[in-house]
Amino acid sequence: MNDTVTGLILSQADYRDHDVMLRVMTKEYGLIGFIAAGARKMTSKNAGSILPLTKAEIHFDYKDGKSLFRLKTARTREFFRNIHEDLVLSAAASVLADACMHMCQDNPAGAPEEYELLETALAQLNEGHPHTLVLSLYLSDMMKLFGIAADVDECVRCGATTIRALSAKEGGFLCADCASSLGIPFSEVSELKRFRLIVKGGLKHTEIIEKASASFERDLETLVEMLRLHAGIELRSFAFYKRFCH
Ligand SMILES: [Zn+2]
Repeated sequence: MNDTVTGLILSQADYRDHDVMLRVMTKEYGLIGFIAAGARKMTSKNAGSILPLTKAEIHFDYKDGKSLFRLKTARTREFFRNIHEDLVLSAAASVLADACMHMCQDNPAGAPEEYELLETALAQLNEGHPHTLVLSLYLSDMMKLFGIAADVDECVRCGATTIRALSAKEGGFLCADCASSLGIPFSEVSELKRFRLIVKGGLKHTEIIEKASASFERDLETLVEMLRLHAGIELRSFAFYKRFCH
């Protein structure tokens, strides 16, 4: 069956002699793969339209039960120019792609919400919103979708509502007693508020949340750590991105 899909290209790897393999996040089919035959030849008509971290319209033959398809033609729909012209932003976008690939790889069906979150995050990076914040909001929203959101309503241990600390390991906020018994240092109130704002607000409220602080680096560190501890996901791209962050 002849099909067309619009997707976000997350990665590109060499495949056989002249081909490349793409991993693409789509609304309709979730995370799928494409083989672009001959894309590494000088004469390839598709080579310029299958760059990672762009949005492309892809024509292909869809077959039920498959997750790897043969790409016929591709056309760039959104290039995210500012991301590609900036080393820090491309490193940040790679973290988004990395997280998406890890979290969506076992999702065979469609993934409209996952797709929307990634597209929104890429657009916000491209528009120049703080990258530490956009990454934090994306990870937090994704964790919510996957049922591993940080608990920022009460102490994760005892349910008390007076909060004094945040722990990636415990998965959210802690009261003074629980934090003390676990040996976890108290946090500044402003830090707890900022983290709560991120988890509650999400990517829909980036413009409001970005006014709340000059830096969201610590929140991002906490969320990356939570993903590692509670979902077993190690974001390799994050170490590379962090080198540019300071
Ligand atoms: Zn407690």
